[in-house]
Amino acid sequence: MDQLPVFFDLKDRWVAVIGGGPQAARRAELALRAGARVRVFAATLGGDFETVIRHPDRIAHVPRLPAAADLEGVTLVFCADGDKACNAAGRDLAKAARIPCNVVDTPEWCDFTMPSIVDRSPVVIAISTAGTSPILGRMIKARIETMLPAAYGRIAQFVGRFRRKVTVAIKSFDGRRHFWERILEGPVVDRVLAGRDAEAAAEFEVELAAAAAGIARSRTGEVYLVGAGPGDPDLVTFKALRLMQRADVVLYDRLVGDGILGLVRREAERIYVGKLPTEHTASQDEIGAMLVRLAQEGKRVLRLKGGDPFLFGRGGEEIERLAGAGIPFQVVPGVTAALGCAAYAGIPLTHRDHAGACVFVTGHSREGKVDLDWTALVRPRQTVAVYMGLSHLAEIARGFVDHGADPALPVAVVDGGTRPEQQVVIGNLADIAQRSEAAALKGPAILIVGTVVRLHETLGWNATGSQTS
Ligand code: SAH
Repeated sequence: MDQLPVFFDLKDRWVAVIGGGPQAARRAELALRAGARVRVFAATLGGDFETVIRHPDRIAHVPRLPAAADLEGVTLVFCADGDKACNAAGRDLAKAARIPCNVVDTPEWCDFTMPSIVDRSPVVIAISTAGTSPILGRMIKARIETMLPAAYGRIAQFVGRFRRKVTVAIKSFDGRRHFWERILEGPVVDRVLAGRDAEAAAEFEVELAAAAAGIARSRTGEVYLVGAGPGDPDLVTFKALRLMQRADVVLYDRLVGDGILGLVRREAERIYVGKLPTEHTASQDEIGAMLVRLAQEGKRVLRLKGGDPFLFGRGGEEIERLAGAGIPFQVVPGVTAALGCAAYAGIPLTHRDHAGACVFVTGHSREGKVDLDWTALVRPRQTVAVYMGLSHLAEIARGFVDHGADPALPVAVVDGGTRPEQQVVIGNLADIAQRSEAAALKGPAILIVGTVVRLHETLGWNATGSQTS
């Protein structure tokens, strides 16, 4: 280890910052965030100080370089001037006064280096590369940022409130350790992260009473209804990823690709509820019942859905059942197919020259007939995204024309959107059925109808399988 990581208490202590540019502003801001008082030595302060200087009671500007007397009572010195000579002078002063000093971009002059910081106060994670590669430090920081929910600090605050109480209630050290492990891996944390502090506190009290009395409690699990996006695993949200990593069991269907399933915790049991080889599809009722049963067994159940769970995903129906049974659940939105496909095909769904509205509909038929509100769909300056429309493509295209749309109105069919096998077939209402048949698309596919489709020619950036005509 090249350096010793320590956390410095700067509350109400003086910190000197030399420099008026962005790097100095960043140092001053960090020191203020840690509760310090800051004196900034610089001829002038740049624009980056505008927000920092808003705390006039805690920060003072001295429009010159510091002299030895200025460093009296100072705890840390940051030399962050653009001019190396100024930094060297500051460094010499600090050294003479034996005050720890940090000089930007000059590790060999530093008594301490500044880490990359992930701030979930009171939880703070500092990453150091001992000044060798700040960029690497920042990359590691970015990875940790994605792993820890923004509200993570609230867990520490919440738990901190109960620390004394637990120490009084559970006498043995091991007992407390088990208790805290159970709490920190359990539903109390989920509730805190979901902002349901009162519920979390109530649950905590029950857990504590049981632990103090030596009773092992069976607990109810929770269901995470999570949108996994249209296929590209990189489009999964941070929150979805975190819940995927916590699940004990996952229920998924056809639209969730392998790349995404690979992100689920490896030990989680996988249950496929899509179409089975016997053509038996688990009904909504069966899925609902399964979710309730698994959660009642105390499991964290991940219900993973393609796209967004509340858009043509029947997510609502599934959680109605949970609400009825009093099972806690959370819902995580996902990138819906229309948005993912539009982005990856280079077709903006709205555009000032083309469309001021966008409608999402399902082309799914009831009893073999496509049942759409055509008058609403054929309006000008509007884009229509049709989900589940591939098998009725000819009928849908004809429906548009029969209700007054121009047969030359452009249509795109995006098949396997956002996935490596994505194909985009471009045509118009008159010929799209024939063109997409020729392309032998496999689905899932979405139809995008409207003049915005013309933009694909110039904005299509994702070269995979574009069949522009
Ligand atoms: N809840 C999902 C939609 C489920 S309905 C969402 O928000 O995206 C299933 C339909 O979604 C498919 O028939 C198809 O029209 C569309 N779809 C889902 N994934 C797709 C993909 N990767 N490419 C194109 N269309 C897709």
